Amino acid sequence: MSKVITRFAPSPTGSLHIGGARTALFSWLLAKHYKGLFYLRIEDTDQERSKKEYVDDILESMKWLGLNWDGEVVYQSKRKDRYTEVIQKLLEAKKAYWCECKPEDLEVMREAARKEGRKPRYNGCCRSKNLDESCKGVVRLKIIDEKVVEFNDFVKGITQVHTSELDDMVIQRSDGTPTYNIAVVVDDYDMGVTHVLRGDDHVSNTPKQILVYEALGWNVPLFGHIPMILGQDKQKLSKRHGARSILEYEKDGILPQSLTTYLVRLGWAHGDQEFFTEEELVSLFDEKGIHSSSAAFDPDKLSWVNSCYIKKLLPKDLVKKIEPFLKKEGYSYEEIKD
Ligand code: GLU
Repeated sequence: MSKVITRFAPSPTGSLHIGGARTALFSWLLAKHYKGLFYLRIEDTDQERSKKEYVDDILESMKWLGLNWDGEVVYQSKRKDRYTEVIQKLLEAKKAYWCECKPEDLEVMREAARKEGRKPRYNGCCRSKNLDESCKGVVRLKIIDEKVVEFNDFVKGITQVHTSELDDMVIQRSDGTPTYNIAVVVDDYDMGVTHVLRGDDHVSNTPKQILVYEALGWNVPLFGHIPMILGQDKQKLSKRHGARSILEYEKDGILPQSLTTYLVRLGWAHGDQEFFTEEELVSLFDEKGIHSSSAAFDPDKLSWVNSCYIKKLLPKDLVKKIEPFLKKEGYSYEEIKD
């Protein structure tokens, strides 16, 4: 097997939460298990929603969790020229085309499709117009008609989508910015990513991305989509269930190893084993063991795991952990000298 390269690619539109942290942890473990590389990429192309404070929060959370990444952090906002170059290549090869349709034209198309009981989608009317950038429109990928896009998801198994279900998707917006599905492909290819592990909210993007790889003649990586973490009521995880920023757990006195030990069991298991050393996890974890069904987040279980780790701490280490909490509450204490 060639060197395994994984990545975690958060969008800095919010703090790092439990779900993202588990994706990062699984990708990190996969890379470590195969003695490969784990990269961190900040997907900050959405200039309005991306915030520096969230970038800082993500980096700090990753460090606190001990999920060290290889090389420099990659920022999508710094790679615009590269995306433009690739889009240009697709235009030259006639695998992409300019489209001048306005949002109102698209609405008419969708309405007509709905009336005929078809899936609302773009009808490809600009495919043969041979427009150029002077139309000030968007660039679309010309997807192959009548094709089944198939991939063997290493979590969910064989997944198929017929291209009749898909649009000629926009790869460059009218303001010249690339869309998510092209930027991700260009980055994953340039970074040599072999295993794309992400949440299953992205599973519908994967066939679209595979079509981009194929249009560019690039090798398609392996994809695995992990099911979302749910609350105990089997509903989407919300603040009410403890879906808070990772750093808030630190403030609550949760130890990083408690969180990683708890998180790794949400979607992966090794029999009934509850506790692992880092070495054990790295040696036992692989993609075959990732569960394809959703796991439920249980804050009480996390507290129990944390209490077990706290009990295992040596007194001198425990004091170090407690110190900031005592300080914060204004208690005085005697320093213990080693
Ligand atoms: N930036 C995407 C997100 O935060 C993830 C993209 C990916 O992993 O491919 O949901």
